[in-house]
Amino acid sequence: MMGTQRMKPVIALVGRPNVGKSTLFNRLTKSRDAIVADFAGLTRDRHYGQGRQGKYEYIVIDTGGFEPDAASGIYHEMAKQTQQAVAEADVVLFIVDARAGLSAQDHDIANYLRRLGKRCVLVANKAEGMREGAQLSEFYELGLGEVHPVSAAHGQGIRSLIEFALEPLQGPEPEEAPEDTATADVIRLAVAGRPNVGKSTLINAWLGEERLVAFDLPGTTRDAIRVPFERNGQRFELIDTAGLRRKGRVFEAIEKFSVVKTLQAIESAHVVLLLLDATQGVTDQDAHIAGFALESGRAVVLAVNKWDAVDEYQRQLLERSIETRLAFLKFAKIHFISAKKRQGLGPLWASIIEAYQSATRKMPTPQLTRVLHEAVQYQAPKRAGMFRPKLRYAHQGGMNPPVIVIHGNSLEHVADAYKRYLEGRFRKEFKLVGTPLRIEFKTSQ
Ligand code: GDP
Ligand code: GDP
Repeated sequence: MMGTQRMKPVIALVGRPNVGKSTLFNRLTKSRDAIVADFAGLTRDRHYGQGRQGKYEYIVIDTGGFEPDAASGIYHEMAKQTQQAVAEADVVLFIVDARAGLSAQDHDIANYLRRLGKRCVLVANKAEGMREGAQLSEFYELGLGEVHPVSAAHGQGIRSLIEFALEPLQGPEPEEAPEDTATADVIRLAVAGRPNVGKSTLINAWLGEERLVAFDLPGTTRDAIRVPFERNGQRFELIDTAGLRRKGRVFEAIEKFSVVKTLQAIESAHVVLLLLDATQGVTDQDAHIAGFALESGRAVVLAVNKWDAVDEYQRQLLERSIETRLAFLKFAKIHFISAKKRQGLGPLWASIIEAYQSATRKMPTPQLTRVLHEAVQYQAPKRAGMFRPKLRYAHQGGMNPPVIVIHGNSLEHVADAYKRYLEGRFRKEFKLVGTPLRIEFKTSQ
């Protein structure tokens, strides 16, 4: 079935400086699994993140863009990117400072937001220790309805705020759609990358291939275009990130680059094909997109495009900068391609399929436990003071990305280096290529 996978809703945080937007942003995003904790070279995008409160998953944007500047007026002050972010959000959290009270700037922002006609929730931050009612009543003046007191710093009121904000956006679908039962044989693929790396050129090169049969009905879920196709008997669904529109047999990028669409596409994909531009090297934006893919736990294939347009020296520089700046994607296969000249495109498919199969690999408990015991036998974890970690057995805790849960005693004392050693053993035994792998420890005493 098509289009069963929903895009995550997008929350934009708006408000004047100092009301606590970044504090709230951190609060809303930090519950994510820390798969990315200690990877060198990972740039975190300060303004875009993802998170979950209870059953609600979301993408959150800290617009941060309202700088006080009386001369130019509020609309001009908003950076283009900020406007776009607000436009793309499903719900805006408008944050005011419960301690400082209402300001003229709050009124300006409220007017702006009212005119947008977008779902808007008024949030009074720094409300720890305040009694509802009296102190918050002035905010009703803004004409944005109910005021939601929270404390971003202390984590109060956050869960119910998110419930209130996102509840109306919940579709009729089951809460916990069993992952991939209906779409088990369809690989959802997102082609991601900065503007001009060659996404549309690549997609059109593919679609021009005889072996690739595109079906005629691009399903539309919310804003995203999905193109179902088949290649050598394997079914795929291409999730658009490029703002593509179909023009006859050819796709054209007609919209400007959208970070939000990219993030949503990455979220709903099994495999992300991350395109880099060989003529530009690895830029911050590349690293951000890559970081987001990793944070989402997605399988990744790297493709360096425009390989035809660089000389030997540039190639070496590029390979080095991939090693350093994208070190956290060491698990991903790298391809050097030219979309324009249609060079190197065939082998991409094998890597995409391999990454998908790795990401969705089933690892039975007895086999996992056997690999664990062999690994420990070969090299036991070090003592930490009076504690000696004891690794007893392992089971699979999830797929896409694969999660391996190891049970035992004193596991909090397992060193990071040892965890990486175990990861290497599991990767090798289960042929996990192209996907992140998460290892969790559960101590029973
Ligand atoms: P932004 O400019 O809107 O991103 O605001 P920040 O997140 O940088 O916060 C501004 C200041 O408010 C910082 O000193 C925060 O520590 C403080 N702050 C943020 N949230 C709270 C809160 O819930 N309670 C209190 N008392 N202070 C907070
Ligand atoms: P998108 O914004 O990522 O969809 O990028 P496009 O597919 O629109 O490509 C941007 C520009 O890069 C266009 O001028 C393409 O012709 C060019 N381009 C794309 N692929 C290649 C390639 O493999 N080699 C070279 N030299 N140019 C390419």
